[in-house]
Amino acid sequence: MKFAARFLVFVLMSAFVSFSAYSHRPAGGPDTENDNRQIRFPDTKNYLTLSLDPHTHSSFSDGHVWPTIRVSEALYDGLDAMAITEHLEYQPHLADVPHPDRNRAFDIAAQSNEGNDLILIPGSEITRRGPVGHINAIFISDANKLVNNYVPDDPSDVLDYYETVTKWPAQAAVDAANDQGAFLFWNHAWWGSDFPNNIVVAPEFHIKNAKDKNIHGIEIANGDFYSEEAFQIALDLDLTLIGVSDIHDLIDWDYKPHEGGHRPVTLVLAEERTMASMREALFAGRTVVWFKNLLIAREQPMNELLGASLKITSAQYSGNSEVLEVAIENTTDSDFYLKNTSDYTFGASADIVKIARHDTTHIAVKTGKRLGKVKLEFEVLNALVKPKEYAKISLSTKTEVVD
Ligand code: ZN
Repeated sequence: MKFAARFLVFVLMSAFVSFSAYSHRPAGGPDTENDNRQIRFPDTKNYLTLSLDPHTHSSFSDGHVWPTIRVSEALYDGLDAMAITEHLEYQPHLADVPHPDRNRAFDIAAQSNEGNDLILIPGSEITRRGPVGHINAIFISDANKLVNNYVPDDPSDVLDYYETVTKWPAQAAVDAANDQGAFLFWNHAWWGSDFPNNIVVAPEFHIKNAKDKNIHGIEIANGDFYSEEAFQIALDLDLTLIGVSDIHDLIDWDYKPHEGGHRPVTLVLAEERTMASMREALFAGRTVVWFKNLLIAREQPMNELLGASLKITSAQYSGNSEVLEVAIENTTDSDFYLKNTSDYTFGASADIVKIARHDTTHIAVKTGKRLGKVKLEFEVLNALVKPKEYAKISLSTKTEVVD
């Protein structure tokens, strides 16, 4: 009986946790909410935390899967939203997959997504050689208007196609996307022959378009790469921070979710779980990039997310001890590494403690004497608010005494 009662409490508590912390998350999709490849970060006090991968490819440009597979992967990963963003100008499969209507990849994905809660965002990748490079436009209404509609004699001549359609100025494509109200972001800025050292410096084209509010974001994480310089450019040019998979093959091959890996995503702090609300949040810059075990954001969205991610669930003195046993719960997919910056020292570790993902970690805090309340201050070593600058968090609680 006692066990049954406890079990019931456990079940109720589990239900509470899954419905409260991730209340916006839909049921269904190929996996359940408990599958641990599903990307899970808690909603914040003021916003829903929506996971977005705004840069993926299918066989309609240089990817190697049909758009339907992108939808399935997104459901497996528990994404809230995704965009399939085909290169408009680089069309290596054109001979095998002719598609005069450049919205086809989106339409096929949207059809297979019927009945799911995944938000599919229409998008395209404007593709040029440096210094313009690659720029994604999402929330577009018609991809056909972002590309020169040249019909090649020989669709298998990929280079001829590329050279011909890229004669249409990049600025014209950027302007056409802005005419549709799109959100544009500069992709993997550090790639290409312009930056053989990978150290990106913003070209005039991007500076001007950022100042004119025609480019609104910049990737700072793409696939296996993170760029501190791109992060600094984002801060300098007031661009939204973006993280993406840029997947061409299979998510499972590239990111090994069943071994604990995950695709880079942009966590969007949105007011509602809708396309319009995500768009508003992206233009407002309310994003946190999740790349490997690193969270990267401006200070405000970072504080929003951290405030919801780490909580003291108990702080107790027992017996006649003056050492405070503090339980810290982490409700995210990321392990946190906290560096103690308060005056207290810890009993079972030096100044860095790991608060494991989706778990509660106990630390022994030497408060010197019994205190009625306590404030612990940390630097978050896996959370960056500027290049080389860590987020800060303070966790306060009342203490209690137990036998
Ligand atoms: Zn791409």
